[in-house]
Amino acid sequence: MLSFHSKLPNVGTTIFTEMSALAAEHNAVNLGQGFPDFPMSEQLIDAVSRAMRSNCNQYAPMPGWMPLREALSEKINRLYGASINPDTEITVTPGGTYAIYTALTTILRPGDEVIVLEPAYDSYVPNIEVNGAKAVLVPLNTPDFSINWDAVRRGVTEKTRAIILNSPHNPTGSILTEQDISSLRSLVADHDMYIISDEVYEHLVFDGMLHHSMLRYPDLFQRSFVCFSFGKVYHCTGWKLGYCVAPEAFTREFRKVHQFNCFSCHTPSQVGITEFLRDEEAYLGLGTFLQKKRDHFIQLMHSTRFSLLSSQGSYFICAAYDRITDESDTAFARRLTREYGVATIPVSAFYQEGSRNRILRFCFAKKEETLEAAVERLSRL
Ligand code: PMP
Ligand code: GLN
Repeated sequence: MLSFHSKLPNVGTTIFTEMSALAAEHNAVNLGQGFPDFPMSEQLIDAVSRAMRSNCNQYAPMPGWMPLREALSEKINRLYGASINPDTEITVTPGGTYAIYTALTTILRPGDEVIVLEPAYDSYVPNIEVNGAKAVLVPLNTPDFSINWDAVRRGVTEKTRAIILNSPHNPTGSILTEQDISSLRSLVADHDMYIISDEVYEHLVFDGMLHHSMLRYPDLFQRSFVCFSFGKVYHCTGWKLGYCVAPEAFTREFRKVHQFNCFSCHTPSQVGITEFLRDEEAYLGLGTFLQKKRDHFIQLMHSTRFSLLSSQGSYFICAAYDRITDESDTAFARRLTREYGVATIPVSAFYQEGSRNRILRFCFAKKEETLEAAVERLSRL
């Protein structure tokens, strides 16, 4: 027998898989893993079906279907005022997670360090470690989960290669502010580093706030890999399609990694999405659509003993439960699923060393009746 020397000895099954399996086992309402339970657009399904029937079923070009990259470049120009070359600066990927992984693999060498703000989406640290690099963990401020830029600066060393930013933020729903952009500017002026910007929730921003994309700021974009997901925009997380926007020199290297990993992505989806991108309302209306769900959920949760924190974007809102129990968040999340039939995600799962802050994450990208059924159960606590 060959003995196996794990490259990721500390990694187990993700919390999303665990909680979705537990939800299925106990027939629980699943407000855990972040995916919508309402249907996606019929027009988009039709557009992809038409593409399949029109013989668009062979390999797409390695960087992505050119008309899709052109449509994305136009969209980026309208939304963020950036002039992005579709030929040399956009690469279509099988999802946002893959785009982030590929960006990290493109830049990292063993011994490099990357600043990761915690709580952090669960793929970042393993993506760094599998490349032989090290994550330098910097906690966000509580309770508002804003960035502590002094702490970020303390984490920077001569080995720092990059910082990962995620706005709107999973799991907390916090977003970058103009002040953050100035702090980031002064940080990267003092210490040369790449920015990996996870913007998969770019359209899910609430209360009239602005999404501070790295694409808005030419000086920041010139050091960035900006990662997106169609799954989050078009309510089709199972399609696993996204893209990475990066300056030409970065994109060239990114594609060297990409072309020998998956080479190219699902052709009919790219063709169908190209057509559907003409419908601006389908993405511009998303913030308002999800904000209504957030507000409905907040309203419903008044009947429980949870204390909701603020959420300015994403699919998620967090809640403290100190008025209910002093269990750890993982123990409480499991018990809630088993005994009360509601699945959530314990926020400590987004910290490498766990956390004691006893907060659960709820996904409100659900039908009204799903949210109501969940809260009816939570109000019995
Ligand atoms: N980043 C964040 C913060 C996410 O929540 C997700 C979840 N879907 C992703 C990246 C990955 O997106 P995709 O499913 O397109 O890989
Ligand atoms: N992004 C989703 C979440 O945070 C889940 C993605 C996954 O299951 N890996 O819930």
